[in-house]
Amino acid sequence: MSDSIEFLKSVLNTITDQIVVIDKNGDIKFVNHSWTEFGRDNDCQIKTEWIGINYLNGYDNTSGADADFGVTAVNGIRAVIIGQQPDFYLEYACHSPDEKRFFMMQVTPFIHQEVQFFVISHKNITNRKLAEEKVLHLSQIDGLTGIANRRYFDETLENEWKRCARSKQPLTLAMIDVDHFKLLNDTYGHQAGDNSLVMIGNLLKDLAQRPADLCCRYGGEEFAIIMPQTSNAQAVHIASKLITLIAALNIPNKKSPTKAILTVSIGLATVLPSQENDTRSLIAKADKSLYRAKKKGRNRVESNL
Ligand code: GH3
Ligand code: MG
Ligand code: MG
Repeated sequence: MSDSIEFLKSVLNTITDQIVVIDKNGDIKFVNHSWTEFGRDNDCQIKTEWIGINYLNGYDNTSGADADFGVTAVNGIRAVIIGQQPDFYLEYACHSPDEKRFFMMQVTPFIHQEVQFFVISHKNITNRKLAEEKVLHLSQIDGLTGIANRRYFDETLENEWKRCARSKQPLTLAMIDVDHFKLLNDTYGHQAGDNSLVMIGNLLKDLAQRPADLCCRYGGEEFAIIMPQTSNAQAVHIASKLITLIAALNIPNKKSPTKAILTVSIGLATVLPSQENDTRSLIAKADKSLYRAKKKGRNRVESNL
């Protein structure tokens, strides 16, 4: 029994990975049950009879968002077919309309009766990928406020800097520092201080609405907003709104010489990113504006322009 073809077919059909075997022209010689089921569940034009169909043509015809994956996949498979590389491995996203899905494709050659064939297996790696996404997300957010942390801020600022340099668009950075926060902690306790930081974080989340905007906890009682493709006038408008919204929270800070409620000072810097300047100079400019806002009496917005 164990050496019969039927037995081996049953084994292959029991494996949950989708398996297809092709020859050196890309013509399909074998598919297992998982492969056929996947094709049926995902509305492939070919419903049942896969044998003889050219596997590579399917990838050559991919378009739109799938085109990059199609080119990478077909190049990898062809590299194995012509012996340029011993095998090929590719992780890719293949989301269905209602769920995220990730797969891993592996191409391995074998010889049967002096003829070269290639096993292509597709494995569902969604659970691992989702776990990785979760870990990545956790490494990017601040534990107290739930908004982006400093590490993610640094990474995003570098990326947005490059993007604005390419598109010759202004980039604005807002540095936000809570006024007399030490007095608030001393008066109402550290827990009350923490609660007010959470409330500010929530306001920032609502305020930085454009997809490219990023608000973050820069450290301690300091926050920042990266606003790509945003003029200084637009940023002043957003920052002034934040000052108003924070006042509306009405968080008491009765010993503050500025105002008896929690306030913030905001320093703005707007620059046109180029090769002559860098993100550090942008941060330094925003810091300078913030320093001026503090000096002028706090609870205000100052700008480099
Ligand atoms: P200024 O208006 O000049 O900014 O005065 P300030 O009191 O806000 O500034 P200072 O730098 O003197 O004090 C900042 C305080 O913020 C001191 C620190 O204990 C507090 N702080 C920093 N991180 C946290 C935090 O996560 N939770 C709480 N509750 N307090 C924090
Ligand atoms: Mg500070
Ligand atoms: Mg402060």
